[in-house]
Amino acid sequence: MILIRSEVLGFCSGVQSAVHKVKQAVEQGRVQHLPVYTIGPLIHNEQFMDYLQKQGVSVIDDAQEAPAGIAVIRAHGIAAVQEQQFRDAGFQLIDGTCPRVLNSQRIVREYSQRSFQIVLVGDHGHGEVQAVAGAARVPEEVIVVHDLSGLEAVTFSRPLVLLSQTTFSSDRFDAIAGHLVLLAEAAGCELKVIKSICPATANRQKALIELCAQVDAVIVIGGKNSSNTRRLYEAARVGTSRVWHINSREEVVPEMKRVARMGITAGASTPDWLIDEIERELTC
Ligand code: SF4
Repeated sequence: MILIRSEVLGFCSGVQSAVHKVKQAVEQGRVQHLPVYTIGPLIHNEQFMDYLQKQGVSVIDDAQEAPAGIAVIRAHGIAAVQEQQFRDAGFQLIDGTCPRVLNSQRIVREYSQRSFQIVLVGDHGHGEVQAVAGAARVPEEVIVVHDLSGLEAVTFSRPLVLLSQTTFSSDRFDAIAGHLVLLAEAAGCELKVIKSICPATANRQKALIELCAQVDAVIVIGGKNSSNTRRLYEAARVGTSRVWHINSREEVVPEMKRVARMGITAGASTPDWLIDEIERELTC
């Protein structure tokens, strides 16, 4: 079998930085004899979360859930009110929020202070969407839109700003933005469109499309609950008819080993060691 790795795969810069901060927190916890937490799962990858648990890092969602210690804010960020709750409860916070998410939070904060209606394109309930909406003066007033039908909630009674979850599909954002532009023009309402989509996903998808042309089948490695990994899987299905989405070497099946030229890609939250492990399993 010939294995060909995609030119761009695995941890993005935001996740790499958050992982680095957790490692720092583990050291700090040892020195200060404090428990170490991440607020929510650091990344959407079960394997990596198991690894962190073995390092003594627990996941908490609420400041009242565990004794105060060192808590790392994950790359998705957290809402301002939640951050304050952790500080009030005596936690030391280490901020692992990706700079791109921090930028979206800054945009929301600034525009909501100027009384703009915030329209956020993204997946309802996604951690980043909650963190970004949570930067608004009144988070409950942020309209989260997942598709065109979500625009029905927009009233055009005040100026609008439209931005996006960083990992949202670029094409779907463009469709929603195009429609909102027409509606805002018809209503005579000011609209500012900020395409805050991170290129990490697009770069992985572009490299994957090139990879598909060189191989007989593709394995996409990453968490089943990772949205960018699922998008890679969808893109691979367009490029080739034989695609698997797996997240552990135990999921390698004999059929995969019979592929002559296998392409490998991995989501932005997939650690290198997991990619290596699966490659070893494929060739043993
Ligand atoms: S995908 Fe982009 S926005 Fe999200 S953590 Fe990675 S670098 Fe940051």
